[in-house]
Amino acid sequence: LRIGRLAAALAALGVRPGSTVAMMDYDSHRYLEAFFAVPMMGAVLQTVNVRLAPEQILYTLNHARADLLLVNGEFLPLLAAIRDQLETVRGFILIADDPAALPAGFAGEYEALLAAARDDYDFPDFDENTRATTFYTTGTTGLPKGVYFSHRQLVLHPLATAAALGTAPDSGRLDRGDVYMPITPMFHVHAWGIPYVATLLGIKQVYPGRYEPDTLLRLIAAEQVSFSHCVPTILQMLLTSPAGQSADLAGWKVVIGGAALPKGLAAAALERGIDVFAGYGMSETCPILTLARAGSAGDAAAQVEARVKTGQPIPLVELRTVDEDLRDLPRDGRTAGEVLVRAPWLTQGYLDNPEAGAALWAGGYLHTGDIGSLDAGGTLQITDRLKDVIKTGGEWISSLDLESLISQHPSVSEAAVVGVPDEKWGERPRALVVLKPGHAPDPEALRAWVGQAAAEGRISRYAVPEAIDFVAELPRTSVGKLDKKLMRQRLA
Ligand code: AMP
Repeated sequence: LRIGRLAAALAALGVRPGSTVAMMDYDSHRYLEAFFAVPMMGAVLQTVNVRLAPEQILYTLNHARADLLLVNGEFLPLLAAIRDQLETVRGFILIADDPAALPAGFAGEYEALLAAARDDYDFPDFDENTRATTFYTTGTTGLPKGVYFSHRQLVLHPLATAAALGTAPDSGRLDRGDVYMPITPMFHVHAWGIPYVATLLGIKQVYPGRYEPDTLLRLIAAEQVSFSHCVPTILQMLLTSPAGQSADLAGWKVVIGGAALPKGLAAAALERGIDVFAGYGMSETCPILTLARAGSAGDAAAQVEARVKTGQPIPLVELRTVDEDLRDLPRDGRTAGEVLVRAPWLTQGYLDNPEAGAALWAGGYLHTGDIGSLDAGGTLQITDRLKDVIKTGGEWISSLDLESLISQHPSVSEAAVVGVPDEKWGERPRALVVLKPGHAPDPEALRAWVGQAAAEGRISRYAVPEAIDFVAELPRTSVGKLDKKLMRQRLA
């Protein structure tokens, strides 16, 4: 009913097939309503990354030619900073839980508009390849690039994801008995598309607003949330926050993606009874490509190994690993190269950026920009980003493996490894480490820890870093990923 009313209200404000409706909100039931109402009208929903700098948000709204903007009252100061430079936005709708006065120039407040709208909106029928959503990637270089997805893609992705998650025999399963709460923003790849999966399954959904550890933990307990997903940083933050240290999180299923799941974090989560496992994808891929299949076999160490695997492709995903000439590499679980992919739900290019789109799709496969290996069973392991690969003495070493290893040392909370230029070796790895509270910096102990792994053949002997920096926190991007570009700049 509310989706129909939202569509009627938007139509009354001039939204037509092909219009672009932009949304600036925290995760909310209203966002979910827009996930459906806007595309079902034949219009395009632009999910705005509210964590970008104001000038970048301005760029994305102008570039996408947004017609109408739905904005949470908390972002009004941000909007004020860019409003007079918006080139195409003709109207504004306020989203607020207890709206005071309507700001000048606003067409209305969300709930008031819905209350006044008819509920017999007649959703049109149209081609399944019609564009449904768009949003902008948040790379560390250059201008944000717009990706886009069609109705067909937004139907096939949840069907395949539901098939993959719903058929997991023991751990990592999502079914009709679950309660779902995202902890990956709805503006970022539709919260990994899981709101569409949850709606498809008809399960209870909890949308937490702004991500604050205490709110998230309270909702998990009060609403009996059983399934979530987030980047590693958020899980780390929840487990170490004062309230999180004593919270009962047993049985909570959490997909970790957006960055590799470090073994140290996986072990800490498993100890708390959390059913944690990795998923892999990117903005360009809608996003899910693979999910780790953990099962319940093996001891604690085997469980950690299984859960940090980048995973098995979900149905309809075809993966390749290739060399520089796009020749397939052996599926031996060791040989690493760029990961290429095909699936029915990948962005077909970048909005109004044909050169970048052609590069993304060079050779007829989408280039992920990630380095990884496949094994004979088709399981993928990402070892690095192409941009972050460390080449030392002619050999690639995996920064993700090294980070994962260091994160398992008892004194370490988090670790990042980047390559720094070196006259003799080309590059050498350098580790940045955040210690757990109460631990003193001991670079020799950490070097010995890595050295031991190298002696046992678990990592390359070239991977032992000479230098380890102890830092209070690691630089991160707007979506909470390690900002390695900034780390390299600072170290240079
Ligand atoms: P984004 O487009 O911001 O969602 O970022 C996508 C990128 O995050 C991928 O290209 C990978 O480099 C990284 N990523 C996502 N999931 C994983 C994972 N499970 N393991 C390693 N890297 C990941």
